[in-house]
Amino acid sequence: MKNLWNESVAAKCRGDLLKLRVYTSRLLGENADLVLHGGGNTSVKLEERDLFGDARKLLYVKGSGWDLKTIEPEGFASVKLDVLKRMAELDRLSDMDMVKEQRSAMTNPFAPNPSVEAILHAIIPFKFVEHTHADAVVTITNTPDWKTRIKEIYGAHVIIVPYVMPGFILAKTIYEMTKDTDWAKCEGMILLNHGVFTFDDDPKKSYEKMIMMVTQAEDYLVGETGPDALVGIPIEDSSDRRDRSLVGTRHGVSGPLSDEDHLNIARMRHAVSELKGSAMFARFIDESSQKYFSGLSDVPSLATRGPLTPDHVIRTKRTAAIIDKDVVKSMKNFAKNYQDYFEKNTGGTLTCLDKAPRWAVWLKKGILVFGCTVKEMNIVKDITEHTIKAIQQAENLGRWDALPEKDIFEIEYWELEQAKLKKGENVPVLQGKVAVVTGAASGIGRACVERLYAQGASVVALDINSDVTGIFMKKGILGLVCDVTDVTQIKNCIQKGVRMFGGIDILVSNAGIFPVGGEIVDMDAEIWERSIDINLSSHQRFLQVCIPYLFLGIDAAIVIVASKNVPAPGPGASAYSVAKAGLTQLARVAALELGGSGIRVNVVHPNQIFDTAIWTSRVLESRARHYGMSVEEYKTNNILKVEITSLDVADLVCVMAGPVFAKTTGAQIPIDGGNERVI
Ligand code: ZN
Repeated sequence: MKNLWNESVAAKCRGDLLKLRVYTSRLLGENADLVLHGGGNTSVKLEERDLFGDARKLLYVKGSGWDLKTIEPEGFASVKLDVLKRMAELDRLSDMDMVKEQRSAMTNPFAPNPSVEAILHAIIPFKFVEHTHADAVVTITNTPDWKTRIKEIYGAHVIIVPYVMPGFILAKTIYEMTKDTDWAKCEGMILLNHGVFTFDDDPKKSYEKMIMMVTQAEDYLVGETGPDALVGIPIEDSSDRRDRSLVGTRHGVSGPLSDEDHLNIARMRHAVSELKGSAMFARFIDESSQKYFSGLSDVPSLATRGPLTPDHVIRTKRTAAIIDKDVVKSMKNFAKNYQDYFEKNTGGTLTCLDKAPRWAVWLKKGILVFGCTVKEMNIVKDITEHTIKAIQQAENLGRWDALPEKDIFEIEYWELEQAKLKKGENVPVLQGKVAVVTGAASGIGRACVERLYAQGASVVALDINSDVTGIFMKKGILGLVCDVTDVTQIKNCIQKGVRMFGGIDILVSNAGIFPVGGEIVDMDAEIWERSIDINLSSHQRFLQVCIPYLFLGIDAAIVIVASKNVPAPGPGASAYSVAKAGLTQLARVAALELGGSGIRVNVVHPNQIFDTAIWTSRVLESRARHYGMSVEEYKTNNILKVEITSLDVADLVCVMAGPVFAKTTGAQIPIDGGNERVI
């Protein structure tokens, strides 16, 4: 494990212990093999003077909800040290009383709640305390021979703590265990199935002890199981690794996903969303190590023995769903097993959480992760990557043994853990939904991508213009180059989107061109055909590819972007108007055909939107001249005398794709500032 200590950066913090604490906490947070997404905690003991000039001893400990990777000074809660130490002497203390008493012993009421491990940090008699859930150490303690192995690695200079619930019980256990301990002789503390503590009065030494202890564990793994122990096992090279008993003799995986497999991803996402009670994203991952894992013959057992460390359970649930041929039935099996687990372990007073899995092993194909948001899904992805590696390492050592389900259940239903998930419950209206937008690189399409994303949807943004791959720098938007006249490209892009987000719920069929005007008598055949192809036929091709996925969507909706020219055509634009009229008719038929399956199809008729790519200044001037107006008059030539922008249309599209339009299909909604010919 790399030591990231940088003397010149540390020198800038010299003399300020809290600054140094922030610095080394971030060093720990930067390494995903030490802590992941809010795991672990750190502290520093300081002496400060209060308002009256009296000295007081304080523990600055990581606040709940902060991540070591990005922590700031205000992420630490300052708690009176003597109060925390006295709390360790109590025989018992409920979680709620602990939280309450710790809060009232804080010197800054605006700081976050102190970590649940604050009492434990307080009783360790050193200024700096580090706590991580280091993969290598936890992996070794998740095997049957952990005792021999830990002794072999660390000798007698570590305190070994059996697994107990974090919080007061853990602090109390260690308080009792260490009453006669000579702390000066201890290099650290190993918490079985949980993590590592190191400590020192010097911040550098405290940090380096952590790096050293974890490195010792990593070296041990390499020594026991070979040089590949710390990396995932790549599928490409698996054949020559079989002999080395890297769990690989039981391996066999299938090739790339078929069309039916892609539909199965959408089926699984649908089933998971139903179990959750709201739309969830799904991501299919078949990078080499995940695919390899999915091909292990005993993976149904390996992936259902429990998480790497108990606190992962609130993100990943205790086990993965195991997916075989009948993907929907497999999800139902997970839900049934979850219900059994709940009933077996609840004391009768708890309410069962949702029964949706957060990750799944699709046998011989890869891994799926699920989340209500892309962020949540990525957290699950990161955790499962580390878990899969740890499982295989532990198996190579003998056997992967996670904590018994009773212990995991206690953490999953522990109110202090659940509280971590309940922050900022302001759910955007399209959260968990997947949208596809064509013509997404500019104008109405681009505005729709931005607005749909802002409302919580993930978006597959397609355009023939390669700008689409670079303009949306967000993890929930997949920009792909796609020629909508090419059905193979459409299919490839849609399947990529399905692997990325799990399916399709919203289709905004928007791609279009505005051909050069001209009267029928002079119409160029090529211009006519190109307009029909892009403004009409491409939408039909698009629907054909997307409808099978929309059948499996969550409250699926199609919004077709047509034109004011449909109800109110003008002379000189037949190639455009006729194609858009055909498109409107296509939408009406689609509304009839798809309504029985709950898919809504509605049409929006914008008037000229002058911030779109098709309205070049040349086209604008020519149209204004055609009507004998100035450009400004032409732009606001409607009853309300307003200019309609791309964002105005996008806002309407979002509403039409959302719950407000849940009971409307086949409608044509103008957004044109009012037009006498339309009204
Ligand atoms: Zn911990």
